[in-house]
Parts: sequence; C-alpha cells; structure tokens
Amino acid sequence: MIKDFEYLAPKTLGEALALLEKHGDECKVIAGGQSLLILMRQGLVAPAYLIDIKGLPGLATIKLDPKEGLKIGALVTHRAIEKSPEIQQRFGVLHEMERRLASIQTRNWGTIGGNLCHADPAGDPAPVLIAMNATVTVTSTKGPRTVPLEDFVLDYFETAMQHNELLTEIRVPTPAPQTGTVYSKFNVIESELGTVGVAVSITLSSKDRTCGDVRIVLGGAGPRPLRAKQAEAALRGKKITDDLLKEAGERAAAEAQPISDINASADYRRELLKVQVRRMAAEALSRAEKN
Ligand SMILES: Cc1cc2nc3c(=O)[nH]c(=O)nc-3n(C[C@H](O)[C@H](O)[C@H](O)COP(=O)(O)OP(=O)(O)OC[C@H]3O[C@@H](n4cnc5c(N)ncnc54)[C@H](O)[C@@H]3O)c2cc1C
Repeated sequence: MIKDFEYLAPKTLGEALALLEKHGDECKVIAGGQSLLILMRQGLVAPAYLIDIKGLPGLATIKLDPKEGLKIGALVTHRAIEKSPEIQQRFGVLHEMERRLASIQTRNWGTIGGNLCHADPAGDPAPVLIAMNATVTVTSTKGPRTVPLEDFVLDYFETAMQHNELLTEIRVPTPAPQTGTVYSKFNVIESELGTVGVAVSITLSSKDRTCGDVRIVLGGAGPRPLRAKQAEAALRGKKITDDLLKEAGERAAAEAQPISDINASADYRRELLKVQVRRMAAEALSRAEKN
C-alpha cells in the first residue's frame, strides 16, 4: 500500500528546485513513475512530498548541435528517443537500445532522466551512453553542474546527485570519424531488464584496423555500469585481430563483478560477458570501418 503523501506540481524548473531545497530528503521527484511507483507500492520509498516534474517546460526536447553534439532533456521519454529521426540517423545505437527497452507502454511513460536517476545496474541507457562519453547536467537553485555519466552512478540505485538537485540534460558528443558503437543486452524475457548488457565504442586511427580509442561498458555486471578497462587495454593502440577480440572478452569477464540472483548465476553472467564483449567489439570494429 502506498503511504499518504502531499502531491506538488510545480509549473517551472525554478519552482521545482525551490521545492526540492525546501523539503530536502522528505520529498521525492516523480517523472514517468515507472520505477518510483513500484518502490512506493512495495513500501521501500515513502516520501512525505511527491514533486511531479513531468509537466515542466523545456526539459522534453531533443536538440542536435553541430559543435556540442546531442542534447537530450531529462524528461524525454524512451519512446521519443526511439522515434527521433535525428537520433536514428546520427546516433543509431541509441535507437537500437531504446527499441529493446521494456514494452512500448513503459517506453511511452518512462523518461531517460528517470532511468539514469533510478540507477538500476541492469538499466540499458547508462552503459551505451557511457561508451559514448556522455555527460549529464544536474541543476539546483545554485545553478547547473556537469558530471561525466561514468561518475554519476555510484552504486546500486545510488547517484552523485544531492537531494536538492534535478537531472536536467544529457549530452552526447558527436562521435569522431571512423567510430563504431554497439550495444546489446542478453535477456531471457524480451522487454525486460537484461541478464547482462555490453556496450562497445571503437575509434580507428587508421585504415588498417588500428584501434585509436575504445570504451567497453558492462551492464548487470556489478553494482554500477562498469568500464572494462583491462579489456580496453587489450585493444587500444593495437591492430585488432580475432585473437585480441577473444582476449578482450576474457579480460572483461575477469574484471566484472556479477552477482548470482534469480535470473542467472555469477559464473553464467561471466560466460555471457566473455562472449558478448568479443562479439560486440567485432561489430563495433565493423561499423567503425564503414564510418
Ligand atoms: C515492466 C518494466 C520493464 C522495464 N524494463 C526495462 C528495461 O528493459 N531496461 C531498462 O533500462 N529499464 C527498464 N525498466 C525501467 C524503466 O525504464 C524506468 O523505470 C524508467 O525509465 C524510469 O523513468 P521514469 O520517468 O518513469 O522515472 P520515475 O519512476 O518517475 O523515477 C525514477 C527515479 O528517478 C528519480 N528521478 C526521475 N527523474 C528525475 C530527474 N529529472 N532528476 C532527479 N531525479 C529524478 C525519481 O525520484 C526516482 O527516484 C522497466 C520498467 C518496468 C516497469
């Protein structure tokens, strides 16, 4: 049963921030409610005040800037990202990721900001956005600050945001030429959270498959999205071969910190990561060669 709370619906960002400042950790923000309402129904979260931000103006837009890249407002829904022609053409991997996130009903309500703030270690957007070197803007009454997404998620369902802050924007830089980015999740039930997820972004420095830069990010493999830095080191600066791809997979599996739960054992998750990292890195390489 959901405990009683006072419902507040600010009309502007300024009003919302003032309410957050005033009510501190007694309040909770609600956007699409797809994660929060479940926690409230289970009695795991029981705020005295619920601040509904879904109607705030200016936070539900997608903008493409030639210099600054892609800017996605925190209130943009998963479905809007999936359907955006600009994203489909220029940041296709985000479209592919969103297409397989939850059901259409959940995608219609759930927001990208809510997903990142909920910080579920199996969430889909964080690994792919970290692989793309995304940053987030968090705003309080004192103004905005920018945080690399990689540093935003701290632990299971915990972020670097303070009680008086709102996530307002996600920024994704335009990928360098010869960059290929891929994300795939392995899930038992389609339209559910993945057992593991793997995002790989490779930038080639020459035509002969030499890896200039690489980011490999694992989801469902620890308390937060995990950069597999040993696996990246296996590829960075080298001419990529099948043996190196295999080594990257093995290193990623070794540095992952998966748990055993109702969906899979830790060993099974490691095995999946080993295979998925090898396959996704091969696919990222193939895309980089075409870009
Ligand atoms: C059936 C089902 C299947 C799902 N499958 C998947 C899946 O396959 N992959 C996946 O990644 N996710 C999945 N999800 C999770 C879903 O994507 C998220 O629940 C949704 O994106 C959260 O967004 P929301 O706007 O509904 O957030 P809310 O539920 O409103 O809020 C979530 C949390 O974020 C906080 N919050 C929200 N917006 C902000 C903001 N702008 N600033 C600060 N704090 C904020 C809230 O206080 C709350 O703590 C699934 C959910 C359901 C119910």
